[in-house]
Amino acid sequence: MYKRYNDLNTYFRSLFGCRVQKITIDAGLSCPNRDGTVSTDGCIYCNARGSGTGALSRGLSITEQLVQGKQALFRRYKARKFMAYFQSFSNTYAPIDTLKRLYDEALSVEDVVGLSIGTRPDCVDEPVLDLLQDYAQKYLVWIEYGLQSARDATLVSINRGHDVQCFRDAVQATLNRKIKICAHVILGLPDECRSDMRHTAQTIAASGIDGLKLHLLYVIKGTRLETLYRQGRYRCLEQQEYVDLVCDFLERIPGHMIIQRLTGDPHPAELVAPQWSLNKSETLAQIHAMLVKRDSWQGKLLGEKLGCREA
Ligand code: SF4
Repeated sequence: MYKRYNDLNTYFRSLFGCRVQKITIDAGLSCPNRDGTVSTDGCIYCNARGSGTGALSRGLSITEQLVQGKQALFRRYKARKFMAYFQSFSNTYAPIDTLKRLYDEALSVEDVVGLSIGTRPDCVDEPVLDLLQDYAQKYLVWIEYGLQSARDATLVSINRGHDVQCFRDAVQATLNRKIKICAHVILGLPDECRSDMRHTAQTIAASGIDGLKLHLLYVIKGTRLETLYRQGRYRCLEQQEYVDLVCDFLERIPGHMIIQRLTGDPHPAELVAPQWSLNKSETLAQIHAMLVKRDSWQGKLLGEKLGCREA
């Protein structure tokens, strides 16, 4: 029995010899696509929480968020080591001293073995990358760049506020620093067809990065996407369509890339549609079943063989 894609848990276990879980941190930062630097509207699918937990606004420090996360993830998964995942908004978008204080605080918590920093490709510069490179000498450091699509027209229509070249430039500036690079991609963006998403997969495959997160575009309350959806100007993907698109994507990217996520995790109270997106385990099971049905795996269309990863 072989793995058909290179999953995150196996990767972490190979590095640390135990279950490792990411703990989501809300560091109270902002985003240039919301504070007026690039735009005040944000991406059309983003609500005021910026994909965040809102933990900081509930008064929890970074240390408290990590301690609570550790307890919960030990109970649920018996996880013994943890990555501090700075997720909400853009987590390199602050003065360098502020960032250093935040990252230092996270790394001072017992059993935290590294950082995952979610950000936009237009929010990194040499000082930030130098700082992360320093941490990477001692800790596991991932930076997660939101690309979403490799089609510039789509990035304009979702009000992303940067183009594909911006992503390429950020990746080039980050390579060869011991910092691992992950890209976020969304499937089902407005007006994208299957060949657009395959093109994004090919762009990711050629980019030299180390990992990937695939998300389903779902509609949450209070977004411009909700307005489009209610006006009948946006149609959500059906579950089977999404499963097919994920398999298309996996077949086109190299087997060494770590797959950090294969679907989104909507908050049930915020979700407008599609309702099937709440059933993550069923979607993952269907993706696996489709790969088996296609007799396919990550990297197949690049000529890679099944069998290099034991299940
Ligand atoms: S870059 Fe992220 S936080 Fe900023 S508007 Fe877009 S989705 Fe929201």
